Amino acid sequence: MRRPSKDPNTLAVHAGDRKKPADCTPVSTPIHTASSFFYDAVEELEEAFEERRPGSVYTRFGNPTTGAFEEQIAALENADFGQATSSGMSALHLAISAATTDRRRSIVAGNSLYGQTMAMLTKVLEPQGLEVRFADAFDPEKFEETVAEARPAAILLETITNPLLRVPDLERLVEIARRHDALTIVDATFTTPVMLRPLDLGVDLVVHSITKYIAGHGDVLGGMVLGRDELQPVVRYLARTVGAVLGPFESFLALRGAKTLPLRFERQCANARILAGELAAMEGVERVYFPGDPAHPDHEIACRLFPDGMFGAVVTFDLEGGRERALGFINGLEMAVPATSVGDVHTMALYPPMSTHRDLSPKHRQRLGIGEGIVRFSVGCEGVDDIVADVRQAVAKTIPAPVGG
Ligand SMILES: *Cc1c(COP(=O)(O)O)cnc(C)c1O
Repeated sequence: MRRPSKDPNTLAVHAGDRKKPADCTPVSTPIHTASSFFYDAVEELEEAFEERRPGSVYTRFGNPTTGAFEEQIAALENADFGQATSSGMSALHLAISAATTDRRRSIVAGNSLYGQTMAMLTKVLEPQGLEVRFADAFDPEKFEETVAEARPAAILLETITNPLLRVPDLERLVEIARRHDALTIVDATFTTPVMLRPLDLGVDLVVHSITKYIAGHGDVLGGMVLGRDELQPVVRYLARTVGAVLGPFESFLALRGAKTLPLRFERQCANARILAGELAAMEGVERVYFPGDPAHPDHEIACRLFPDGMFGAVVTFDLEGGRERALGFINGLEMAVPATSVGDVHTMALYPPMSTHRDLSPKHRQRLGIGEGIVRFSVGCEGVDDIVADVRQAVAKTIPAPVGG
């Protein structure tokens, strides 16, 4: 406080506040909750506004805690910048908006995307005038035909699809996009920068739901868009103007969580690989979907794109007996958490027809290859023997006792 006062009202508002830290460095990034920032002279504020000097002015434009988190993930992704957003969905919305600003208002999307992404495309963006076409990303020739016809501003893909865990040939699809002057947006939530750095393959914008592996502890909702310098101005401008940015508390939690992302994710992938092998031999399990399985349709692509032995940390399987057994299995779990998410430190199980794919009719699900006995398992960091034992006992409960036995 520059002006002395004895008035308790003034003292309560100003005394002690805004003390610059002494000349020492905290070992972790403080949570800067301030919504606005000021400088010794107001001219400096103007310089900060115009980005002629580093420094924050207003938290919607940028915040030191959020900035630290953005820098952390951009470094992991080999990106020039990261823009943190309030959720994975707002990150997808931001990436699509950026890719279609001052370009053709048209997009071609892979046809087995996250349910809410499909809903955003068809129920929000299409009615607003975006031309949306879907194409089979697992049939690159057909995909290219659609791209050639639609001449989209961008194509939109996921690195591993949900819940059947298909892996599109990103290198080939990026080539197709480039040939037709389209940008490539990739939702890389399921691979994380530990397993794949799509920008290195020529992808233009990477999107993450921070909520999942990156924050990793089931206590943050957030997202991020990452890319190269060319797209930074439009992404930043849209983020600050539309305003769905990540708050400093969430940024702090995500920054803290992501410090152990490589450790957690390597452990989770290793656990998932073991579980997938065990499931394949379990009585009561009809089919296992896991890109590490040599019989998986995209196994070769996964081996080419991902580091040795890493195939993601989600395992999906079909139980014999359909819906009733699948629900019985989930209710029978004694350690895994029956919750709607992926990527947390704890193992989670989910029934897609009731959660991620609940908006689709059983017929539509069948067409996508999603049967009624399906279970999606997000493998956590627990001891793998405990995970396998929990699954084994819950599967055993779903097997009916022999009649008269
Ligand atoms: C969860 C998820 C989203 C949405 O992220 P939110 O943080 O829940 O908004 C988008 N894409 C994928 C692949 C996801 O798993």
